Amino acid sequence: MVLSLVRRALLAGRRRLPRPAASPRFPSRPLRGHPAEPFSPLLSPPLPTAPAAAARLCSGVGGEAEAAGGAGAMLRHLARKLRASGPVTVAEYMREALTNPGQGYYTRRGGVGESGDFITSPEISQVFGELIGIWYISEWMAMGKPSTFQLVELGPGRGTLTEDILRVFKQLSSVLSKCDVSVHLVEVSPKLSEIQAVMLTGGKAQPSPEDESAYMKGISKTGIPIFWYRDIQDVPAGYSFYLAHEFFDALPIHKFQRTEKGWREVLVDIDPEVPDQLRFVLSPSRTPATQNFIQPEETRDHVEVCPEAGVIVQRLASRIEKDGGAALVADYGHDGTKTDTFRGFRNHKLHDVLSAPGTADLTADVDFSYLRKMAQGKTATLGPIKQREFLKNMGIDLRLQVLLQNSGDTATREQLLHSYDMLMNPEKMGDCFNFFALLPHHRLVHPDKKDKPESKSPPLPPVAGFNELLLK
Ligand code: SAH
Repeated sequence: MVLSLVRRALLAGRRRLPRPAASPRFPSRPLRGHPAEPFSPLLSPPLPTAPAAAARLCSGVGGEAEAAGGAGAMLRHLARKLRASGPVTVAEYMREALTNPGQGYYTRRGGVGESGDFITSPEISQVFGELIGIWYISEWMAMGKPSTFQLVELGPGRGTLTEDILRVFKQLSSVLSKCDVSVHLVEVSPKLSEIQAVMLTGGKAQPSPEDESAYMKGISKTGIPIFWYRDIQDVPAGYSFYLAHEFFDALPIHKFQRTEKGWREVLVDIDPEVPDQLRFVLSPSRTPATQNFIQPEETRDHVEVCPEAGVIVQRLASRIEKDGGAALVADYGHDGTKTDTFRGFRNHKLHDVLSAPGTADLTADVDFSYLRKMAQGKTATLGPIKQREFLKNMGIDLRLQVLLQNSGDTATREQLLHSYDMLMNPEKMGDCFNFFALLPHHRLVHPDKKDKPESKSPPLPPVAGFNELLLK
C-alpha cells in the first residue's frame, strides 16, 4: 500500500517549465563532470621545486579580500601573498579561489545553470529531483516513518533540487501528513542563498537574529520551514536526511606527486619569469599533508586527497549513528583509482585552473573510497553505483513515459528525450556520475540477525536506487 503511493508520485503531474539544458543546443557543450583532459600539466614535465626558504605552507593566503572587484583582484591578492609568504597548497589556493568571502567564485558568481559556467543534473531535468524525493520517502517509510525529519542539503546551488523534492513531498502529503518536515540548507555563498530563497520561498526569506545558528529563514511555497547555515555543524541535531549533489567535488584538495626522493606535495607559486602568473611547484621536502594522507601501500604516482570531505563525512556518519536518518551523495568520482582530476570551468568550457582565479569553477573528482573510509564504520555505506543504474532502479523510465504521454507538442517531447539522454547516456552523465549512501547499520542488517543469524525476523526492505524500486 505504501509503495503504491510512491508509484502515484511517479505517475503524477506534468512537465514543469522547460529547463534550458534540455534544449537541443546543450549536448554540444562540455559537461562539468564529463571526463576530460585536465589542463594542469602535472603528470608530464617534471615540476620545479620551490626554494626551501620560501616554502611556508598554508600560511599566507587566508586573509581578508580586497574590497575592489574585478577579475584581476583575486590574482593580485594571491600574487602579493605568495611573494610575501611563499607557495601555498592546492587546497589553500582552491579555498581562496572558490569561497574567499570577498572575491571567491561561489561568493561572487555562483556559476550553476545555463547562464553560468556549468550545468548540473537537477538543472537539466525535473525528473532527477523527483526521483531523489521518492528515495527519501521510501527510506523514511523503510525506517518506520519517524514523526519528524530534517532534509539537509549541502551546497544547494540554485535550489532547484530541493524545489523538485518538495514538490514530491507535496504530492505525497497524505503519506507525510503526520510528519513534521523542515528543510536545512548549508550554503556559503550569499549570492546563491539569495537565488535559493527566491526559488524556494518566492523571496520571502528573512535574515535571522545574530544569536540563532541559521543566518536566514523562510517558509517554502509548499508551507515547509527552511533555514540557511554556513556550516553543517550549525544544523540542529535530529533525525535527518542529508543530500550532497555536486558538493564534495567543490571542496579543496591536496595534490601529491611521487618523486625519486619520495612523496612531495604540489604547491601553487608565483611564476618568477612572468608577472602575475601562477605555476605549480613541488614542495622541497615532505609536508605534514604528505605524511598524513599518503598510505604506505599507495601504488599511484599522483594522488589527490580532500580532507574537508573526510571531515564532513565523519560528521554526517556520527549524526546518523546518533540521531538516525541517511545521507545520499551524488557526484562524479572514482574509487581510489584516478590521479590528476583537478580542472576548471568557465562559460561551459574547460579553463586553466591557475588562470584568473575567482572567475572560474574549480573542481576535482570525488574519491568515494576515501569517503567510505572516513565513515569509520559508524554507518553502513552503499555504492558508489552509476547514475544511470540508480535512476533506472528509481523508475526513471516509467516517469519519462508519463511525462511524454502528458505532453502534447513535439518540441516538449524532444526536450524530454534529450534531457533523459543527458542523465542516462553512459557517454554523457550516466556513467561518470555516481550515487553513494550512508545508512544506519540496522537499516541493512536486522539487529536480531546480527546477534542471532538464525533469527526469523522479516527481511528488511531493499534500499531503493541501489536495488530496484518495488512498485507493487
Ligand atoms: N547542488 C547544486 C549545486 C552544486 S555547485 C546542483 O547540483 O545544482 C556547489 C554548491 O556548493 C554551491 O551551492 C556552492 O556555493 C556550495 N559550496 C561550495 N563550497 C561550500 C562550502 N565549503 N560550504 C557550503 N557550501 C559550499
